[in-house]
Amino acid sequence: MKDYSECGRINIEEIFASKVFTLDKMKERLPADVYEEILKVNREGGELSYSSAETVANAMKEWAIAQGATHYTHWFQPLTGITAEKHDSFVTHPKSDGKMLLSFSAKELIKGEPDASSFPSGGLRSTFEARGYTVWDTTSPAFIKEASTGPILCIPTAFCSYTGEALDKKTPLLRSLEAINEQALRIVHAFGNTEAKKVSVSVGAEQEYFLIDRENYLKRDDLVFTGRTLFGAQPPKGQEMDDHYFGVIRERVGAFMNDLNVELWKLGVTAKTQHNEVAPAQHELAPIYEEANIATDHNQLVMETMKRVAFEHGLTCLLHEKPFAGVNGSGKHNNWSLVTDNGVNLLDPGNTPNENIQFLLILACIIKAVDTHADLLRQSASDVGNDHRLGASEAPPAIMSVFLGEQLDDVVRQLVETGEASRSLEGGVLQTGVSTLIDVEKDGTDRNRTSPFAFTGNKFEFRSVGSSDSIASPNTILNAIVAEAFCEAADRIDAAENFDNEVHDIIKEFLAKHQRIIFNGDGYSEEWVKEAERRGLPNLRNMVDAVDTLTTPKAIALFEKFGIFTRAELESREEILYESYAKTINIEALTMISMVSKKFIPAGIRYSKLLSDTVNAVENAGTDPSVQSRILDRVQTRLDLMYKAMERLSEVEKKGHSITDAKERAFYYRDVVRAAMDELRTPTDELETLVDEQLWPVPTYGDMLFEV
Ligand code: ADP
Ligand code: MG
Repeated sequence: MKDYSECGRINIEEIFASKVFTLDKMKERLPADVYEEILKVNREGGELSYSSAETVANAMKEWAIAQGATHYTHWFQPLTGITAEKHDSFVTHPKSDGKMLLSFSAKELIKGEPDASSFPSGGLRSTFEARGYTVWDTTSPAFIKEASTGPILCIPTAFCSYTGEALDKKTPLLRSLEAINEQALRIVHAFGNTEAKKVSVSVGAEQEYFLIDRENYLKRDDLVFTGRTLFGAQPPKGQEMDDHYFGVIRERVGAFMNDLNVELWKLGVTAKTQHNEVAPAQHELAPIYEEANIATDHNQLVMETMKRVAFEHGLTCLLHEKPFAGVNGSGKHNNWSLVTDNGVNLLDPGNTPNENIQFLLILACIIKAVDTHADLLRQSASDVGNDHRLGASEAPPAIMSVFLGEQLDDVVRQLVETGEASRSLEGGVLQTGVSTLIDVEKDGTDRNRTSPFAFTGNKFEFRSVGSSDSIASPNTILNAIVAEAFCEAADRIDAAENFDNEVHDIIKEFLAKHQRIIFNGDGYSEEWVKEAERRGLPNLRNMVDAVDTLTTPKAIALFEKFGIFTRAELESREEILYESYAKTINIEALTMISMVSKKFIPAGIRYSKLLSDTVNAVENAGTDPSVQSRILDRVQTRLDLMYKAMERLSEVEKKGHSITDAKERAFYYRDVVRAAMDELRTPTDELETLVDEQLWPVPTYGDMLFEV
């Protein structure tokens, strides 16, 4: 029996943020004036003076060295979607007496210079003009990452080209946070909350993932090279019994979760909720929401730490949106709200939303924003892996819509119909039919799990984001589109003579004009697809279709107005998206060809040899070999189909390379190469069901999904 007495003896208060250079630690280590300056920058924006940065650098170094760090790195988020780091030690020239003086200067803290040409730049940087800079983001705290390299001091940074173009995900996010702060403040001030100096975005990202045995993972080239299975027959059991969701967490997974929590708490990530998800081997972790920039950095740390801790447990964490066909894929619900620095959540309707005029205005603006830019929002959640979820008969649909729930829907209807909302539906008391159960108050609204963008009490939950994706883009887009609607409302309010009348008119007008985006029904149904089309809502079925939403005139006008992206930055991002789509599918195609030619066809040949030998032996023994013959026939048919499909895939894959235009190539990969991949998968999966399992060269779906 395992001894559980030591489990759960973790002192969270002691370890929480122990690896983070928090404000608290700065307060202890910095002169009061420098500390005050940092607080001011965090609160009001602006830059830290060079001399203060020098003091901070020194204190940061002392703290990091005390934690055993030998190196520091500028930690940034290039357009690969993952993080990047280059380690530098604190070592300097030895002194004349041979002694080593460790150093870390303000210059090293503030600015780094990675070679920009080796990261995706979509033509913004050519290889001969490679300068790019990483710049310290003072709003996200430095932390120490513990890895086999030893503890490393990580400094969150933004990554820009020599000419100031964003080459990363953080820079536009920070720009969008400034934009929404400025516009939201105008609204808040107009409503009389003049104390508020800042409106921040709060984000809580729920992260889904799969855990499989590492031995199995390593035997599957498709998982190793592409993160998802490209082959695999369905096991006898999938998720149809609903017995995994919220099921008892298995021992090995529990041990992983336990270590994961500790590692995340040390990094200041508020790991809060853990549970089994719908698909077998699928799980979820949710942290408590926090400021959007920090939440974005933390989500990267969550993903990275999941992978590392899984490795330590002999497991592999799969973050791909669709690692296995036939069971649910993984997403990342992005919970989003706005809060003032004096504690008002602008998305909190209160008990009687019909009386909360500020809330109704904010809501009307968000509805307008999502309707006006549904295409951009859809784009922000697209990546190659997410094409297997959005618009592909799995949650949520590719059509963007807003779910409000009964209570708000009723208020909106009253406003649109009569211009006034005189009542709010109440939740009432839950009737369980059991006298000993305590009466509980119900929410004003039930949940809807099929909506991509759902109001859930005091926040919106954007459910379309892919599990492996950075949450930077979805939040950048959300902030940008809502800032634009706020700006329009604030301009009108500023110019109006009668505040109350103008606010009333704006709410009514925005809601009436944009109510088509509201949908409270079943987002998975065929009827909704038709209904959405009637309403004129965009249905961008895949990533490639969504790319050019970034450079429509309305998108360029929006981003340039609020200084979030320049036209050049948008065009470069489009180019990168097309390129990464084609490259990803290309890797998948090559992996399929390699697996079929080196593993599956040889396995089929071995089995058909065994069968034909048996046919002869059985016949010689004077009995009827028709069973063996029939199986042999079926195997041969599959081998034939596989061989032809493999040749075809090989051919179309080669042709893909001759297409020079990135957009054209992406469409080609989507339409031609993917179809050829499907053609190859079908007979291969059928062969798997025929061949003796001893001869099948890779672990099966059953092995991977049920053996952790
Ligand atoms: P669900 O039932 O949808 O799984 P939870 O109540 O577990 O939702 O919350 C999901 C996430 O939403 C958590 O990360 C939580 O911290 C976050 N969240 C809660 N309130 C807010 C808010 N006001 N703004 C942003 N995120 C929030
Ligand atoms: Mg949720």
